[in-house]
Formats: sequence, structure tokens, C-alpha cells
Amino acid sequence: MNENDRLKKYREKRDFRRTAEPSGGKRQPSDEPIFVIQKHDASNLHYDFRLEVDGVLKSWAVPKGPSTDPSVKRLALPTEDHPLDYADFEGVIPEGEYGAGTVLVWDTGPYRNLRAEKEQDALSMEEALDDGKLEVWLEGEKLQGGYALIRTGSGNEARWLLIKMDDDQADARRNPTSTEPASVLSGRTLEEIAEAEAGEEG
Ligand code: MN
Repeated sequence: MNENDRLKKYREKRDFRRTAEPSGGKRQPSDEPIFVIQKHDASNLHYDFRLEVDGVLKSWAVPKGPSTDPSVKRLALPTEDHPLDYADFEGVIPEGEYGAGTVLVWDTGPYRNLRAEKEQDALSMEEALDDGKLEVWLEGEKLQGGYALIRTGSGNEARWLLIKMDDDQADARRNPTSTEPASVLSGRTLEEIAEAEAGEEG
């Protein structure tokens, strides 16, 4: 599937005359694939976990956000592929539009596919997605180390779980979603982004 086919769902849900979200096609794939976690104050506050795979951002909505505690499993609901351009999107999606609410880039950086590094049964990201089990090494500002995304159930009942892998970067005492709420791109909080955009309209 080419990029346009994969972004069809994303584009169908949005009116780019009304939302400042990117329509896609401008940002080129990186030498090192990136992850991004966006904090999104929509009807329900959640964190969008995205991984660059083959020219798009594979995406999951994580209601409680990522944990650094390997004993904690966080529900991750698959959402439509997003364009690479979305990785630095911050702003306010207007009332009445899909996903209305404020978005900030909570963490981002390069990642590695740990399953590709196995001596036996090495899998690409696409193969690992089909297999329902991703293991990635994140090099973010707030999150580092291994994270697993594991699919449970199938079809419409499919759910994924986001779990910190038990490595040197695991830390049950940290709680970065509470202690480090601001954007890694602009340093702004959700409130500051919302206020800035309200000011621009006036
Ligand atoms: Mn979202």
C-alpha cells in the first residue's frame, strides 16, 4: 500500500480547511525511525503513542499514558495511521472537528526495533505488527529503554497493552506523566498552548 492509501482514513476524518493538523506528504522518513507520544486533551485526555513504520506513524491511544514501571500494563487502542508530518504537531484542534482539543508533543526521539536484533526469528516492524508483539527501544527525553506493545484478542475485540520492559531504564518510582507534563518541543503545558491559540483568534 502506498502512503496515500495508508493515510486515506486519516484524511477522511479531517477537514484541513478547519484543522491545522498536517495533511501529510511533506516530511521524509528519517535515517533512524522516530517515536512520538502526544498528550491530547480531547473528550477524554489520553496519550497518542506513535511509531514510524514504513513512511507513516502507526498509532495507539493510551488513556493512562506510558508507565516506567514494568509491572504496569497500559491499555493501548489502535487508531488510524498518521502522516510523518504529525510528529511535531502541537496546537488546538477546533470544536466540532475530529479529536477536538489541545495536543502537545510529550516525548519524542529515535527508536530501535528490538525484534529485528534477535539472532533467531528476527522480525521487521511490519512482521512484528502482524505478529501482535512489538519490542522497541526508545531514546526519548522522558522515556528511555525497552517498551513492549502486545496484542490481545482479535478482530474488533483486539486490544493492545503497552508495557515497560524490565531493563536498566525501568523505574517503578518515576511517574513522568505527572511530574513532567510539558511539551519537549516548546516547553509549554496544554493550558499554555490553548491560551496562546485563543489569543491568536482574538
Ligand atoms: Mn488522540
